[in-house]
Amino acid sequence: MIGGTLKKNIKNYDLEKLKEELKLIGEKPFRAEQIFKWIYQDKVESFEEMTNLSLDLRKKLQDIYSLGIFKIMRKFESVDGTKKYLFDVQDGQGNLIESVLMKYHHGYTICVSSQIGCKMGCTFCASTGIPFSRNLEPGEITEQLLAIERDSKVKISNIVFMGIGEPLDNFDNVMESIKILNNPKGLNIGARHISISTSGIVPKIYELADKQMQCTLSVSLHSSNNKIRSSMMPINNVYPIEELMKACKYYIEKTNKRISFEYALAKDNNDNLKDAKELAKLLHGMLVHINLIPINKIEGGKYTKSTNENIIRFRDYLNDCGIVTTIRRELGTDISAACGQLRRQNMEG
Ligand code: SF4
Repeated sequence: MIGGTLKKNIKNYDLEKLKEELKLIGEKPFRAEQIFKWIYQDKVESFEEMTNLSLDLRKKLQDIYSLGIFKIMRKFESVDGTKKYLFDVQDGQGNLIESVLMKYHHGYTICVSSQIGCKMGCTFCASTGIPFSRNLEPGEITEQLLAIERDSKVKISNIVFMGIGEPLDNFDNVMESIKILNNPKGLNIGARHISISTSGIVPKIYELADKQMQCTLSVSLHSSNNKIRSSMMPINNVYPIEELMKACKYYIEKTNKRISFEYALAKDNNDNLKDAKELAKLLHGMLVHINLIPINKIEGGKYTKSTNENIIRFRDYLNDCGIVTTIRRELGTDISAACGQLRRQNMEG
C-alpha cells in the first residue's frame, strides 16, 4: 500500500507470495502464474487485458490491487543512445524518481533507483540535497524496468542498483525485487546480470554475503584514506575503511566472487600517484576489480574532473600492480545522466 492510495501494488509480491495473496481472496494459487506472466512477460498495463482470467476475477483484482504503473514526467535521449527517465511514482505524494537506460555492445542495462532521496550525503553526488522521503517498494523497483521496456521497446538484460538511494539501506525491498527480476516465470534476469552498489553499510555486506547470491557487489570506495573518504562519504565516519575491508574480505571468502570497487576520481583530491599506491596496498591480494569513474561535475559541487593524464596514470599504475582496473565509459553526459541530476533540475524548476 503506498501513499494516499488504498490499493495494494500487486507488483510487490514475488510468485510465492502472490499465490498466498490469491488464496486470501478465495482464488486458486495457479492463477498467480497467469497473472505473473501477464505482468512480466506480456507487460500489460491493466487487469482488463488479462484475458484468460474471468471477468469477475479481473474486476476483483482491479478493486483490490493496483499495477503500480508510473507516469513518465520527462525523458532525455543522449547522442550516445543513453535515455534518462524521470518518473512520477503515482503514490499521491508527487514523488519523483530517476532511471537510466544505457546501451552497451552486450545489450541494454538499466540503472535503477532504490529510494526516494538518499540519507548518505556523499559530497560528490547530485542526489545530495534531495531529502530522503522513503524507501521504494519492490514493485516500484521492478516498474522502472517495465516502464522503460514499454516505452523504449527494448529488452533489458542487465540491472545495476546505482541510481538514487543506497540499496543496502532498503535491503529487504531490494532483495524482494531481485526475486521477481530473477524468476524465470517473471523477468528472468539472471543474478549474474544484477549488480548491487553500496556506499559501505558494513552489517548489510555481511548479510548479503550470507545469502550467497550470484549478484555482483559494487562498493563505492573513492579513497583508501579515512580522512579523504570521510570528506567524500560521511558513512565512513560510521564504518571506516578497516571495517569495510574486513566485510569485503568476508564477502569474497563466502561467495568466491570478485568485488567491484568504484573509485570516482576528482582533481587534486584523490587522483595522484600517491593515492594509487595507497589503494594498491589496501587491495593487495584481494579478488577485486577497480572501476575508475571520472567524476561528473555537478552544479555547485566542490569537485572537478581529473585530467586525462592523471586518470590514465592512475589506471596504469594499478594494472601494473596486477589489480584489474578499468575506466568507466562516460555515457549520457549531455543529458545530466549522473544520478539525481534530472530530479534536482525538476525540483529547482
Ligand atoms: S552516491 Fe549513492 S549513496 Fe551516496 S548520496 Fe548519492 S545516491 Fe546516496
